[in-house]
Amino acid sequence: MAGRYGMRDPRYDILFEPVRIGPVTTKNRFFQVPHCNGMGHAMPLAHAAMREVKAEGGWGVVSTEECEIHPSSDLTPYVEARLWDDRDIPALALMCDKVHAHGALAAVELSHNGPTASNLYSREVLLAPSHQPSKYGYPAQARAMDLRDIAEYRRWHREAAVRGMKAGMDIVYVYAAHDLSLPMHFLQRRRNQRSDAYGGSLENRVRLLREVLQDTREAVGHRCAVALRFATEELLGPGGVELAEAQDIVGLLAELPDLWDVNVAAWYNDSVPSRFAREGAQEPFIDFVRKATTKPVVGVGRFTSPDTMVSQIRRGVIDLIGAARPSIADPYLPRKIEEGRVDDIRECIGCNICVSGDMTISPIRCTQNPSMGEEWRKGWHPERIAAKASEARVLVVGGGPAGLEAARALGQRGYEVHLAEARRELGGRVTREARLPGLAEWARVRDWRLGQIGKLANVSTYLDSALTAQDVLDFGADHVVIATGCQWRRDGFGRTHGLGVADFVENPRVFTPDDLMDGRWPEGRVVVYDDDYFYTASVVAEALRQRGCEVTYLTPDDTIASWSANTLDYRHIQWRMAELGVAQCVSHMVTGYADTTLALKHVWSGAAASLTCDAVVLVTARLPDDALYQALRQREAEWEGAGIRTVSCIGDALAPGLIAHAVYAGHRYAQELDAPKHEEVPFKRHFHHDTPVA
Ligand code: ADP
Ligand code: SF4
Repeated sequence: MAGRYGMRDPRYDILFEPVRIGPVTTKNRFFQVPHCNGMGHAMPLAHAAMREVKAEGGWGVVSTEECEIHPSSDLTPYVEARLWDDRDIPALALMCDKVHAHGALAAVELSHNGPTASNLYSREVLLAPSHQPSKYGYPAQARAMDLRDIAEYRRWHREAAVRGMKAGMDIVYVYAAHDLSLPMHFLQRRRNQRSDAYGGSLENRVRLLREVLQDTREAVGHRCAVALRFATEELLGPGGVELAEAQDIVGLLAELPDLWDVNVAAWYNDSVPSRFAREGAQEPFIDFVRKATTKPVVGVGRFTSPDTMVSQIRRGVIDLIGAARPSIADPYLPRKIEEGRVDDIRECIGCNICVSGDMTISPIRCTQNPSMGEEWRKGWHPERIAAKASEARVLVVGGGPAGLEAARALGQRGYEVHLAEARRELGGRVTREARLPGLAEWARVRDWRLGQIGKLANVSTYLDSALTAQDVLDFGADHVVIATGCQWRRDGFGRTHGLGVADFVENPRVFTPDDLMDGRWPEGRVVVYDDDYFYTASVVAEALRQRGCEVTYLTPDDTIASWSANTLDYRHIQWRMAELGVAQCVSHMVTGYADTTLALKHVWSGAAASLTCDAVVLVTARLPDDALYQALRQREAEWEGAGIRTVSCIGDALAPGLIAHAVYAGHRYAQELDAPKHEEVPFKRHFHHDTPVA
């Protein structure tokens, strides 16, 4: 029967058809496309374990991230995969073995990044089609490749393909996407001003890509499928790859690869945050490819709905459902569809915290899936968790992301859980923030947890229950978890103003994001003061513009929303602010606010300035709502009498952070309850085998 547990809805059968890709066959249409993870060659065991969970969760193909093929394409400080020589094979063989153990195919995305590499580790000179500055602002230029360099590059690629095959890869990628690889750089007029056979006409600019595809086929095509990852549009005008030309390129190369993996460049246009693009947004840029080739086509679109997936296939847009983020948020997505458990899918919210792992060179983490990046080092699994180790009753106070995840995971372990929430609705900050412009999908953090909790008879939920310390003592649970969240400060305290701003205190013209979310909005000329540097100020500015306010985005930082570069939001925020007519005033701190005059000081010159405004919204810092926790600590002497063994404070109530931090804190609490006390370092680490041990 359709949708019943254990049975797949026949509507989704098409997703489970095998697809032939050159010499190999994938068991289904679920294709985990390459994605970075901040672990790469530096943490091969952690990397392999993370990929294994995807294979276990049903993905037919599991890919690496970008894989450096040569020291002249060294991506330091970013940590990606590496196949410089044979000594790099075992690390990737580890991944292949684990992926194969679950019947999935392994794919490697070979890449030489040319002028978009750094070579900070290898100290080699950067290479490019023509002389040009390095893309990422390193104070060095890439040199123009001569014909000998091109021949060498082709040799490196061939040899890396063979190494990939030896590691056990089933699919070897030629990479011409994201503005990150030489075959793409040769296509781009802005990077290729050559006058030889590799520059000028389209046929010439395509030459290298064609040759590398042929080389790869010759080197490994008897065993491995050759995939081409190709960007069809860069949205940069004639200097970049444009759709019309991309159509010609696909026409020229149509049958050469065994698989087309197509997307929009650069990364910020590919992994667009949900605030700026909906599910399936790339369709208009890639749908022509399927008609131009007989080879299978994979595309991405943050697909989490099986109906959308089926529609993409039935309408002939793509053959394989590509996913990076949906596979991170739910490595078990295919299996859940297969088992008729669509409601259990933990849908990606499009926040791009996963991307920030790569950007900050740290192991990948995910807002929705707290086990991401912890598979090997903590032994966490996205679906399984140890059964309870005692009959303890747990009281969770606060139903935001931290409290919900703690209650859910404790409930999954089998504990008797009681979740009390002061408001009439659950979700805490995600419920509140999801009402702001563009953030609707963030409510999925709440919805998935509520869905799971709803299936657990051992978790009871109480709304409209603002607990006091006395209530908690009277309740008498064995363990109490305080997850009561935080509030935005209204005194101006933040990174820049260590002593706050006296004029803000008890000033009726001063607002915080909490006021707005509570329905108290300013009017007229409003300054949004951002000393937080992430997404909130721009979302507030957008909401105020929607309400007809005249808005100035003011920040002591040298640009708006600087941290959002780590989540690929930054450019979209800049474009959105420009579109909305939000004025910007950067590099200015506040020195006072009298009546409607906001006094400013330039952070570098010290020059005084001012802005006239009817109100200021402060996005500076937050303070934990930990009064309940502190009150309970005060009454520690009474715990034993009340039957309470431990009281813990987690999430924003302990230290305000990202939603991802709150979910992680809730999950960690549940994992560690009744677990043996861990050692000082609470996770496994990689040690370099060449380093002598003292
Ligand atoms: P986090 O991100 O750490 O989960 P949130 O602010 O999202 O924090 O959620 C905290 C939740 O706790 C809010 O929904 C809030 O209404 C609730 N809360 C705060 N104080 C109490 C209390 N004393 N009793 C019950 N619930 C509370
Ligand atoms: Fe999706 Fe956010 Fe998780 Fe990335 S971190 S996979 S965007 S939910």
